[in-house]
Amino acid sequence: MFNLILFGPPGSGKGTQSEKLITQYGLKHLSTGDLLRSEIAGKTPLGIEAKAIMDKGHLVPDEVVIGMISSALEANPHAKGFLFDGFPRTSTQAEALDKLLDLKKTSIAAMIALAVSEEELVKRLLKRGETSGRSDDINEGIVRERLVEYHKKTSVVADYYKQFDKVVVIAGEGTVDEIFARLCKEIDGILNNK
Ligand code: ADP
Repeated sequence: MFNLILFGPPGSGKGTQSEKLITQYGLKHLSTGDLLRSEIAGKTPLGIEAKAIMDKGHLVPDEVVIGMISSALEANPHAKGFLFDGFPRTSTQAEALDKLLDLKKTSIAAMIALAVSEEELVKRLLKRGETSGRSDDINEGIVRERLVEYHKKTSVVADYYKQFDKVVVIAGEGTVDEIFARLCKEIDGILNNK
């Protein structure tokens, strides 16, 4: 199996690049943001609870997202590999993911981190809010709160993978195709060194 984490702050382009990467490398896309939004759309108890938290720009509890990822791994026993997007977002989630992958006798090959300036992130998120219908993208206060959460709880997740020498940083500004080409170059390098 070949498993990757696409990492970066909100608005760094993880969702956009994930769509292209899963086609290129035949991976199964696991986005906790998408999984949560489908719970919201289905008006499930989990979705209703998660929406209130997401609309404040905060992270939903670790046990909720870890449970969702665990079920998704179980539901895809024949996947060639997984592309994790928006997960893990805390150190607790990172440790839980390692344990889950260990049980499947696999691991994370690399964490690819998209680097984008704060100013560009806010601009992109508010622009996305004009058309996406995502209630957490509409207001600058919520967008900034998500970035605060990222710096407080999520950016440390890169340190967790750095200790295993698994982090690659990619410049996340430029056209979608330019960034995709940079990602493919790194991933091909990783695949060739396996
Ligand atoms: P973005 O990267 O633009 O913030 P996501 O779709 O990844 O968008 O996440 C949207 C929201 O969903 C987050 O602000 C958070 O509330 C919740 N969320 C998504 N993934 C996680 C996670 N792994 N842990 C906790 N909360 C999460």
